[in-house]
Amino acid sequence: KEVIDAPILVIGSGYGGAVSALRLCEAGKKVVMLEMGLNWEKSGIPFSNMLKPGKSAAWLKKKTIAPFMNIFSLTPFTGTLDRMDFEHINIWVGRGVGGGSLVNGGMAVTPKESYFKEIFPDLDAEKFYNTYFPLVHKELKVNVIGEQFLKDCPYYQFTRVGEEEAHKAGFKTIRVPNVYDFQYMEKEYKNEVPRSAFNTEVIYGNNHGKNSLDKTYLKKALETGNLEILDLHCVENIKLNDDKTYTLNVQQTDTSGVVVSDKIFNCKKLILAAGTMGTLKLLLQSHAVTSLPIHEQIGKNWGNNGNFMTGRNWVKPLSGGTGAKQSTIPVGGIDNWDDKEHPFFTEIAPLPMGMDVATALYLLINRVDKKGEVSYDVNTKKLNLDWDQSNTAKMRENADYFIKKMNRANGGTRSHFLFNNGFGADVCYHPLGGCVLGKATNAYGKVNDHDNLYVLDGSLIPGTIGVNPFVTITAIAEYCIENLIRQNEFA
Ligand code: FAD
Repeated sequence: KEVIDAPILVIGSGYGGAVSALRLCEAGKKVVMLEMGLNWEKSGIPFSNMLKPGKSAAWLKKKTIAPFMNIFSLTPFTGTLDRMDFEHINIWVGRGVGGGSLVNGGMAVTPKESYFKEIFPDLDAEKFYNTYFPLVHKELKVNVIGEQFLKDCPYYQFTRVGEEEAHKAGFKTIRVPNVYDFQYMEKEYKNEVPRSAFNTEVIYGNNHGKNSLDKTYLKKALETGNLEILDLHCVENIKLNDDKTYTLNVQQTDTSGVVVSDKIFNCKKLILAAGTMGTLKLLLQSHAVTSLPIHEQIGKNWGNNGNFMTGRNWVKPLSGGTGAKQSTIPVGGIDNWDDKEHPFFTEIAPLPMGMDVATALYLLINRVDKKGEVSYDVNTKKLNLDWDQSNTAKMRENADYFIKKMNRANGGTRSHFLFNNGFGADVCYHPLGGCVLGKATNAYGKVNDHDNLYVLDGSLIPGTIGVNPFVTITAIAEYCIENLIRQNEFA
């Protein structure tokens, strides 16, 4: 087996990994990043859109795995979108250099300060709202759609209808910032540049317009000359050595998932940024396989960020519905968070099916009052998730309240077309928690019972943050790595 020594290793190239890499590289440290997915930019393979799913559509699957309309067969390829299926919930994640930023909707939402304080009582909220969130907005290139463009553009009929209906039902709406470049979007509308958001590109990757991490944090980190990214390198397990260094078993694969090389990586410092599910799998599986010590808090306080999908059919069918043409980039939301009885935020989501289906899709984000727990089953060699209908009961109640109120004011029915009985309780895009900051780690993400192991990704957030999570994940990673570097952890 090839043996590679690297002083600092980062596993995963999503938000947490990209922030850690940039700040360490800027501090003059050499960083090696291992990513199980493909480096799409380097490969030159284009991303496919939702109407013609191709190579990028799914991680080694024979069929597409979008939340609905999976009628397309595929040749297995290391695609960008993966789904982990549990008994009561399916969790979608991004794979590839850039992690979730390749497949997500780009919604860049700062959490409500009151909720942030409730979730992270030990963090200095003022510092986050004055320093880290503005920093993250700048680095991620967050911007907002022009109101006039939104008003005129046929591709945003679904948003205009969604907002109009919400107001009629007595709900408050908000404009949602995004990392998609809206100046690019205005040009693509005029056909001055190739189309991406208007060409049903998003969950299998965007060829243009979207400022995913490969265009922001990772690009800057590579420009320092201190970062090496090894794609198609999947970490199987981690072993703690007597001298407190780590040894990793790693499989390098080709794009059909076949192992082409087994490698061993040794490192002094190890940063886990494999995403909530990836990091938990590595910690829990390594505990079973190599006796990696893990703290009793690992796996606890897991949540789906209150994700609950629902939809309505027969939305303005006689006046153009939600539109045959739809941008894939959401820009509208309904903010019902301050309602004591039914607190939720919902994205007015696109449904770009290439025809007018007069259907409105919503991804609700609710509080998570009952948390779940992740463990590892040594027999099946898979993660177990303690999570069932009892965890989503209140979310379902909120969705029911929302849909009824919208239908009473505007007409329409609960969408049986999209989901069994109209509710997608099992759709999760935002897995969070399991390695909570200050519980399973110290105040800056250093894992309890370890000297040289850090977690910097969504698993630090205790299961809920009340809005789409990547802005918070990025800000927490900035805060942690700044303090870890200041404390000479990587000296
Ligand atoms: P990730 O971004 O998940 O990155 C982890 C990386 O680690 C991945 O690239 C993975 O391949 C790699 N990895 C995992 N295990 C291993 C291993 N063993 N070896 C090597 N590499 C490994 N959030 C928002 O804020 N706004 C949105 O609009 C939004 N839309 C979304 C839409 C979809 C369809 C999905 C799936 C998610 C969406 N999200 C959105 C959620 C957001 O993308 C995630 O919360 C975020 O990407 C998590 O960041 P992370 O740093 O924790 O890890």
